[in-house]
Amino acid sequence: MKHEASKRAFEAATRRMPGGVNSPARACRSVGAEPVFAARAEGAWVEDVDGQRYIDYVGAFGPMILGHAHPEVVARVGRAAARGFSFGMPTEAETALTERIAELVPAMERLRLVSSGTEATMSALRTARGYTGRRGIIKLEGCYHGHADALLVKAGSGALTHGSPDSAGVTPGAVADTFTAPYNDLDAVEAIFTAQPEAIAALIVEPVVGNMGVVPPEPGYLEGLRELTRRHGALLIFDEVMTGFRVALGGAQARFGVTPDMTCLGKIVGGGLPVGAYGGRADIMGVVAPEGPVYQAGTNSGNPLSVAAGLATLELLSHPGAYERLEALGARLEAGLTAALEDVGVEGRVQRVGSMLTLFFAPGPVRRLDDVPDTASARFGAFWRGMRDAGVLLPPSQYEAWFVSLAHDEAICDRTVEAARQALAAQ
Ligand SMILES: *Cc1c(COP(=O)(O)O)cnc(C)c1O
Repeated sequence: MKHEASKRAFEAATRRMPGGVNSPARACRSVGAEPVFAARAEGAWVEDVDGQRYIDYVGAFGPMILGHAHPEVVARVGRAAARGFSFGMPTEAETALTERIAELVPAMERLRLVSSGTEATMSALRTARGYTGRRGIIKLEGCYHGHADALLVKAGSGALTHGSPDSAGVTPGAVADTFTAPYNDLDAVEAIFTAQPEAIAALIVEPVVGNMGVVPPEPGYLEGLRELTRRHGALLIFDEVMTGFRVALGGAQARFGVTPDMTCLGKIVGGGLPVGAYGGRADIMGVVAPEGPVYQAGTNSGNPLSVAAGLATLELLSHPGAYERLEALGARLEAGLTAALEDVGVEGRVQRVGSMLTLFFAPGPVRRLDDVPDTASARFGAFWRGMRDAGVLLPPSQYEAWFVSLAHDEAICDRTVEAARQALAAQ
């Protein structure tokens, strides 16, 4: 495959943008490559600036569950754009989207729309602290909740693979009230609660981790977090920015039957345009301005184009059979990749929840961050480059989730498995 146009585009980009990108994971450094520059995308396919087409599992890092440029979403956004981009006044479409979200995620009795997942988690934490009058928060190692200062501690995703899990520029004060524990370890969480009696405002968790690669909660883990937070008077926040509308129409809380006090959304809820949302029990959300003393605002919050894309996306996802289809495609890919690993004799495993999955170059199950060996990233890098050369784009890190969309089909999954078999054999 040729990468001349991407190479030129990257050189030009590097002059002005740090690393040539506007978000570090896109730089592809952790897979030892330069970025593939996108020109356009449709359905399950992305075309690069060299005119080559790839099967896409990046899915814009999560939002594109319908596939790229779904005609119905494009039409709805176009109609909204013709009526005006933004007003600084409320619109009825915002009410419609919040009603729809609350129907699908009943634990979000009341909510706010924001513009990104980072804003959603940051605002949820401020609300939790304002509501409880406590300062402490618990976050779990390998979970990524966006790049707010207090949450850039032992974070996943790009923060993980760029070797600076604790970012420079974050003051000790900003993280002084952040306590961390390994994922899938209830005893470690209980120890924090015991050592900090009545100090913890909230525990925030990815109910299925996507940002250290896909790591499902072990049976009883989410229930245990629910019980511990309740017993210690802390709020349980599910960061469903990735899992919301992904692992089930009602998110991980519907799939696993555990109800948090607050929920954060992003990615799919904006259908590929910038949106986030946070919300929860009505009494908790009552502390948010202008009803209460917790300030939070946004010029672009509830942007009409984003809201139109979100509404159209949720509507299409509500069609009967959508999640059965995603499950079936995910299972087919998992089975094919697992068989390929076995046939080729490469040590690895596929972890999947619904339509998000990761192929880990790990000897055993990955339950927490430490279970991924140091060698995994280099091996994944070689695999990623092999897949790219075979026309399949994976998220560029061992610690990311691959996303299957409704635009993928059996033939695409089988082609992916065939490419994987060859890329693994070449290792
Ligand atoms: C992507 C992500 C975020 C951050 O969302 P942005 O829109 O990138 O700010 C937060 N939490 C989780 C679980 C995510 O996957």
